[in-house]
Amino acid sequence: MLLSIKAKEVLPIFIFDKTILDELNCDDKRVDYIFKKVLELKKELKKYDLDLAIFYAEVIDVFTFLKQKGFSCVYASVDYDNYARNRDNEIGKLVEFNALFDCYIYEPKEILKKDGSCYVVFAPFFKEAKQQYTKEHALKYEIEKNILSDFDYFDYINEFKENSFIQKSLDIKSIGFVSNSIKYEPAIKKLKSLKTKIQTYEEKRDYLNEDATSNLSLDLRFGAISIRRVLRELISLKKQGFQTEAFFRQLVFRDFYASLLYHFPKLHTQDFRSYAPYMYNKEYYERFITANTGVPIVDAGVTQLLTTGYMHNRVRMIVASFFCKHLMLPWQKGEAFFAKYLMDYDAASNILSWQWSSSTGIDAQPYFRVFNPYLQAKKFDKDALYIKKYLKPLKGLEAKKIHDEEFLFSNSIKGYTKPIVKHKQAREYFLEEAKSFINN
Ligand SMILES: Cc1cc2nc3c(=O)[nH]c(=O)nc-3n(C[C@H](O)[C@H](O)[C@H](O)COP(=O)(O)OP(=O)(O)OC[C@H]3O[C@@H](n4cnc5c(N)ncnc54)[C@H](O)[C@@H]3O)c2cc1C
Repeated sequence: MLLSIKAKEVLPIFIFDKTILDELNCDDKRVDYIFKKVLELKKELKKYDLDLAIFYAEVIDVFTFLKQKGFSCVYASVDYDNYARNRDNEIGKLVEFNALFDCYIYEPKEILKKDGSCYVVFAPFFKEAKQQYTKEHALKYEIEKNILSDFDYFDYINEFKENSFIQKSLDIKSIGFVSNSIKYEPAIKKLKSLKTKIQTYEEKRDYLNEDATSNLSLDLRFGAISIRRVLRELISLKKQGFQTEAFFRQLVFRDFYASLLYHFPKLHTQDFRSYAPYMYNKEYYERFITANTGVPIVDAGVTQLLTTGYMHNRVRMIVASFFCKHLMLPWQKGEAFFAKYLMDYDAASNILSWQWSSSTGIDAQPYFRVFNPYLQAKKFDKDALYIKKYLKPLKGLEAKKIHDEEFLFSNSIKGYTKPIVKHKQAREYFLEEAKSFINN
């Protein structure tokens, strides 16, 4: 966020929002990531004779304080989830709030049907998005010569006591969190490696051992790289003759979900349609979140999430389908579990992907399509390398046996549990329940 006191005089600020942080565990990897990125930004801004004022407080208290100091307006790149929108409305009551739509390619009202309503199916949204695309969408912001507002951190320390410790120490402990040893690959390096991945992206992106995707979701989520920088790279690759459309399509998917959440804020918690039957079986839920379902691809995915904060897209689809259809647990519970651990957690993508998986959402997977987790694993993790990486007890087992439900049911494997449900029975039960739900 940039606060401006008079034209051209700015104070770049970052707020560690207490309301958000109070809900998180002290070892939340996202806070560590953001903290490291904020320090990098502070260093970077110094190259332009600017600095970054870092606050750890309730957002409204910070703006009340800054308003007293004479700051009159704020420029911020906005997010569309309900919390962010309400917060920005409140800030707007204190200072002039200038929303910049810089998280996504398109502004939320840019891709609409001719009658002004919002697209609810991806294919026409994508078609229209391509038609609306101009070089402005990939525009690079020019850096202007700005003057840093005349402010002294130490004055702030004395006057805004909530903030005192953070400016003094610039240590993550000062906001009650712990650092971890994860080294984050710079976003720009990941972007550059797209050159070696993009030609085969479409063909390989679902295969779990290919490292065929960009891994940029975390950086895009927290603005460590601008979506426009990514677009400029795609343009350059296209000019060199690479196939870029499949990758661009996924970026537009992100926009599609953001636009849906913007136009239908109720989707945060409510289904768009409601024909998913579910029951809440606590034991099933506990076994799922502890990677103890006995279904290897599901447990491997959950273990990847718990240990790294990431899960491969194909595995997210398998795991979410299993949760909603085989275990018939409510998608909201699965969404909340992902929200707690995904480093790249993005409300729109996560909520709408979970609704897609449970067949209750907009443009969702039809309810009768139930992934067979064993066939999915056999196809996308043929040699079970992904599964073995995350499930140590299965390390010595042949891939053929890992993908064989009957084998897993009828044999005991040291350190690993038997499958929680049988695919065929669970699928039939779900379909029966779903049909009667629809008919009533
Ligand atoms: C149940 C479920 C939950 C998900 N939750 C999230 C989430 O919280 N945050 C999140 O960023 N993505 C989420 N996704 C989408 C997708 O899994 C991740 O974006 C992707 O795995 C990130 O890896 P990548 O950066 O290597 O993707 P790439 O394949 O390299 O794709 C490039 C970028 O496009 C966007 N993208 C790709 N696929 C999708 C998609 N299906 N939907 C929306 N955007 C996409 C991402 O920003 C991604 O970084 C979810 C998918 C499912 C099925």
